[in-house]
Amino acid sequence: MAEKPPCTETGCDRTSYARGMCKKHYNAWLRRNPDKTEPKAASLEEMDLLVYDYEFLRSMGFTVVQACKRLHRRPVTVIGYYRKLGRPVPQSLWAANERLQRKVAVY
Ligand SMILES: [Zn+2]
Repeated sequence: MAEKPPCTETGCDRTSYARGMCKKHYNAWLRRNPDKTEPKAASLEEMDLLVYDYEFLRSMGFTVVQACKRLHRRPVTVIGYYRKLGRPVPQSLWAANERLQRKVAVY
């Protein structure tokens, strides 16, 4: 297994944990940047699982919006997962995404 590269912080020799920093320096960075806690990009496995869950919820009779809410993802995010996985994006997802964007534009 490949060794994780060391922390980018000068003088720190711990292995990196996130954003090229070790756990200690990453946590310190988060405290300095509390609004930068964006979730890390999902791996292909995570995307695959999420799409699987999404399709399961849809088959259970959930609407697109309900299924997305249940998975804590926006339709546009689920669309991105389909595309990254090289799978055809369901028309209903596009439609829901468009409706949402129109709703946002009203505000
Ligand atoms: Zn460090």
